[in-house]
Amino acid sequence: MESLVILGTGIAGLTAAIYAARANLSPLIISGPEDGGQLTLTSDVENFPGFPEGIKGPELIERCKKQAERFGAKFKLALVEKIKQKKDSFTITLDDKTTLDTKSIIIATGASARWLGIPSEEKYRGRGVSTCATCDAAFYKNKEVVVIGGGDSAMEEANFLTKFANKVTIIHRREKFSASVIMQKKTLSNPKIKTLWNKEIQEVLGDGKKVTGVKLKDSKTSKVEEYPCHGIFLAIGHIPNTGFLKEFVNLDEKGYLKADNHMHTSVPGVFAAGDVQDYNYRQAITAAGTGCVAALEVEKYLAGHQ
Ligand code: NDP
Repeated sequence: MESLVILGTGIAGLTAAIYAARANLSPLIISGPEDGGQLTLTSDVENFPGFPEGIKGPELIERCKKQAERFGAKFKLALVEKIKQKKDSFTITLDDKTTLDTKSIIIATGASARWLGIPSEEKYRGRGVSTCATCDAAFYKNKEVVVIGGGDSAMEEANFLTKFANKVTIIHRREKFSASVIMQKKTLSNPKIKTLWNKEIQEVLGDGKKVTGVKLKDSKTSKVEEYPCHGIFLAIGHIPNTGFLKEFVNLDEKGYLKADNHMHTSVPGVFAAGDVQDYNYRQAITAAGTGCVAALEVEKYLAGHQ
């Protein structure tokens, strides 16, 4: 029987692992399909305290893993299929059908990028359609790209892409961005960025090998047009990785894990950390902070269940 199983190896899960391991709980951390979480998809992290010159996202994750291992954390690569509550413990079923018994759980499974869900997007995934400008922008040196979305992520991606691409067009389905005012200002004043309002993506166009453009429908006039581009960057939000939790613990209407300020979920002994329970802030430092809170709460919970 494990004392604590942590689901997720993003910055939230790893911070929880460091704290729990230092408290002698020997936590077992399950790395899912996106090992290391979203920080492994970023380049420079410039706003994590303590790194005045910035640090690469993957390096920050690697350092946290080492730090957790130093205090006795154990890692296992697997996909969790379901969790069942027993009297004072939980049974976790993994994708290879093996099971793990544990007294407590921290869910830190994060959120993954949302896709449009049209067949042509699937066809050109990785061949011109991307959800990560920091990963793929360098492929578009002196080319023309579009960014889909109107939130802070779309603004951030568009600005980043201007370091490489000749022209960046933000395509938004409404006539107003939802991004913060400061991000909007920065974006709209960038001479390399153009905006198309009220346009829905109907189809990703390509030559069979790579993207050549997008087919757009104007939501006001219904006019359909083709807009040429070499790359398409989706920044239309994230979906929390909670599909396997539906029957087990309370989720909100968007599918995010419901947790109180102490990271307690609706099930005693099950705690939350990071983006899986946070739609608003989604920052490395807030994810790390909630990981710390969750681990401290696990300690208290286990002390009361000796
Ligand atoms: P948001 O949910 O804020 O924005 C998603 C955008 O995508 C909206 O413009 C939405 O349009 C559009 N959209 C959603 N679905 C579709 C679709 N199917 N087709 C076309 N467009 C679609 O997500 P973000 O990732 O931008 O931001 C999430 C949170 O993270 C926010 O709270 C944000 O402030 C924060 N964030 C903070 C950053 C920072 O501080 N540096 C950086 C990035 C994010 P519509 O408006 O019409 O719904």
